[in-house]
Amino acid sequence: MNVLRSLIVAAILAPLSLAAQPETRPRDEATETFVRGFVRFLAYHEAGHMLMGQIAGLSNNPDWSSADREDYADKFAMILLEPDADDPDGIAEIISAAGGWLQVDNSLIRNDPHAPPHQRAQDIVCLMYGSNPPAFAEFADLVDPDTDCAALYQAMENEIDEVFRDYSGQYGRSIEIIYAAPTGGMEDARQFLRDSGVVEDLKDDIEAEFYLTNRTTIRAMSCEGKAKSDTFYSDTVRSANPEDDHFIITLCYEMIDARLKYGMRGFE
Ligand SMILES: [Zn+2]
Repeated sequence: MNVLRSLIVAAILAPLSLAAQPETRPRDEATETFVRGFVRFLAYHEAGHMLMGQIAGLSNNPDWSSADREDYADKFAMILLEPDADDPDGIAEIISAAGGWLQVDNSLIRNDPHAPPHQRAQDIVCLMYGSNPPAFAEFADLVDPDTDCAALYQAMENEIDEVFRDYSGQYGRSIEIIYAAPTGGMEDARQFLRDSGVVEDLKDDIEAEFYLTNRTTIRAMSCEGKAKSDTFYSDTVRSANPEDDHFIITLCYEMIDARLKYGMRGFE
């Protein structure tokens, strides 16, 4: 695992050393790519939860543990974000997401249903490699040799295709986007999120591939005092009539703010 860590960290830092011009950049480009990649991965992970609930009804499946659901949401994010081999920006963002998990201090994490951060990083790299082993041959050394990443990728891709994707050519309900006014000094985080285009990309990707039957909102806001602030989450406001259930993905400005300031270290 140390080899994986050092190689991915090197991959993250490599563009920095080429592009470093600190006198002209208030916040360096490597940090921006890193935070954008991590935020995008987490937002798409929450979309995975939303689609599991809205399309497949998997959120309440008694056969699934919460760890199963978290693992599935990560894989869902990877399938949606799968970069082409000739898309260096997409690859850099995915590597950033994996690199982000590698930097998390495991000892700080308590009662988390997600897989350990290093496992999440390993799974991200495995699925990216597995999506196209010849094109991503440089990552072959990073994946567990006992894992058939190409088979894992194909199985997940097929499952999402069969269970979730819609090929009717019809659009379902469109996703509503809310950027709530920031409070508590979160202006920079809100601006970063807007500039990143992550929310709009997510809306477009979901609407294009999946048929939404319910009201769905992506809401960015200052969460302090309202919810656990240093995170993103997905929840459902239930109604007497399930057709009126409202699915909400919440992106807390505080999570973005903390990553922009401190990177991943100390992430809980
Ligand atoms: Zn989750």
